[in-house]
Amino acid sequence: MSRKEAGANASSWVVASRRSSALSQAPARRPAEEPNRRGRGGRRGGRGGGWRDPSGPQQPVADGPREPPLCFGLKQDWVGVVIGRGGSKIRDIQSTTNTKIEIIKGCPEAEVKIFGSKTMQTKAKAVIDNLIKKQENYNSQHRVDFVTFQPSVGRDVRTDGSVTDQPLIDWDQIREDALKWEEKKWADLPPIRKNFYMESETTSSMSQAQIDNWRKENYNITCDDLKIGEKRPIPNPTCKFEDAFQCYPEVMENIKKAGFQKPTPIQSQAWPVVLQGIDLIGVAQTGTGKTLSYLMPGFIHLDSQPVAREKRNGPGMLVLTPTRELALQVQAECSKYSYKGLKNVCIYGGGDRYGQIQDLTKGVDIIIATPGRLNDLQMNNFVNLKSITYLVLDEADKMLDMGFEPQITKILLDVRPDRQTIMTSATWPYAVRRLAQSYLKEPMIVYVDTLDLVAVSTVKQNIIVTTEEEKRSHIQTFLESMSPKDKVIVFVSRKAVADHLSSDLILRHISVESLHGNREQSDRERALENFKTGKVRILIATDLASRGLDVHDVTHVYNYDFPRNIEEYVHRVGRTGRAGRTGVSVTLITRNDWRVANELINILERANQSIPEELVLMAERYKANKLKKEMEKKLGRPQGKPKKFSY
Ligand code: AMP
Repeated sequence: MSRKEAGANASSWVVASRRSSALSQAPARRPAEEPNRRGRGGRRGGRGGGWRDPSGPQQPVADGPREPPLCFGLKQDWVGVVIGRGGSKIRDIQSTTNTKIEIIKGCPEAEVKIFGSKTMQTKAKAVIDNLIKKQENYNSQHRVDFVTFQPSVGRDVRTDGSVTDQPLIDWDQIREDALKWEEKKWADLPPIRKNFYMESETTSSMSQAQIDNWRKENYNITCDDLKIGEKRPIPNPTCKFEDAFQCYPEVMENIKKAGFQKPTPIQSQAWPVVLQGIDLIGVAQTGTGKTLSYLMPGFIHLDSQPVAREKRNGPGMLVLTPTRELALQVQAECSKYSYKGLKNVCIYGGGDRYGQIQDLTKGVDIIIATPGRLNDLQMNNFVNLKSITYLVLDEADKMLDMGFEPQITKILLDVRPDRQTIMTSATWPYAVRRLAQSYLKEPMIVYVDTLDLVAVSTVKQNIIVTTEEEKRSHIQTFLESMSPKDKVIVFVSRKAVADHLSSDLILRHISVESLHGNREQSDRERALENFKTGKVRILIATDLASRGLDVHDVTHVYNYDFPRNIEEYVHRVGRTGRAGRTGVSVTLITRNDWRVANELINILERANQSIPEELVLMAERYKANKLKKEMEKKLGRPQGKPKKFSY
């Protein structure tokens, strides 16, 4: 029997994305050959059992030329693996690759048809191949044979139904091919211009003493060249806006309109670096003016490229941020200081995907995005990142904390390597350094007072050593003591704690808002707005949701749960005492947090804060316990309580 005949007699599955509830075991007829007819929704009767997509036949989601389906045979044993429980796997493949997949039951092989654009067909096929390969590793007695009717990518095709040994992999050849492919990939790109800096006379004539003085008075600005080998001169700080932007009157106009008096510390040192086209790492927190430190030079960069904007076939600037809140905040800044009609779009998970795709297709210059959603649109060919010449990784430490590294890696595969890259981070741990090493070229680094974890000296930091059970009564006492003008962010460790605590307080007639990742985007935006405007003066937040929070008049930070690490503590405390104001923080710490006690003491000491005796005792107990464990390990004795054995 020919494959076609086999297919014609076989039962069929047409598994569609989104309409999962309609996927049932209802009998179905083999779907018609042509993939693009619409309007035949609903289950259809017919020969054999199978699934039928009520939304109609296999209409590819992506626009583009109608391609014939990519067909191949799939050993019957593997059909279940590809479909997944309740069709979950195949729906997943369809939605991430923007294809429709039809599996027609047959013996010994089922027939798989992938509908969609050629690229997407190939991607979907690769995902299926990968899936089976993984399964093979677990289950070596099962083997799958692929028979392709069309050429497939990335896999040997076997047509005789036998299983052949894997050929030896020639890694040298693969590396050589990869290099050639890389060269080819970036061969036709237009040149980039990166240096736009004209040092003003005032800046160039600063004496070393004046430079040192400025840096010291502006939160101890430090700037280093991370280039290996011969170092470049560190540019003098730009103490006035005109020192950086004297040649760019439109930027100056925007700054004047905003009413700013002088560059913030990070801006004064970052602008002369970035305007020269040098990659930059800015270690500074939200609220320090870091967004404009990369946006203003970015505007100039975009507008001054040798190839005109409209001929570049895509956006020029990409800003990656960890959270929707920060993405929206960056977009707000970007729109406020609009420059020469540069258009921006904000792409974030939880937002209207279709609307974002529409915005992208209209043409934009700047994309501000969270990595997950951007990667999704990139995978589905809705966005072209080849034209990006100015890349920003904003709050890189948080992006890593949130596990976005794989998405960042995938996104950056499509961004030209000779771009200019700026990275900001509130902290500078090893993981962030590693990220910087991978994605920045010979960068300079500017830190503003946070690098050595000296928590903002404008915050009075109170520590209460307590127990889990006593936390509720502590916070209640604190909230009752708040004056009407106070505004507090209460940090908790988990979404569930945020929910419990807020409902508890609401029941006590205390008005609060909560901010965490499980809340709908619109609820998060409303909560933040109510807190910003002062309608509600207590915000309960998890760390993930709090990033990018730029609220100037927070008077108190309350750490209901101690954060995961000391860097986060510094970051949280810095949410108050901003813009020259003073602030107060209260931190509850329990025995469970004892391993950070010592680091916390160091921070408090450096910031001239008082240290409670109980905290010192806690640190000592932890140290003693650690020593004891190490000794036991050395002596080969069992650690902890001996286990009971029954004979
Ligand atoms: P960011 O650190 O980027 O979140 O900035 C925090 C806030 O500072 C934003 O609302 C900016 O508009 C504002 N800002 C930026 N630059 C300056 C400046 N030079 N002087 C005063 N405020 C500024």
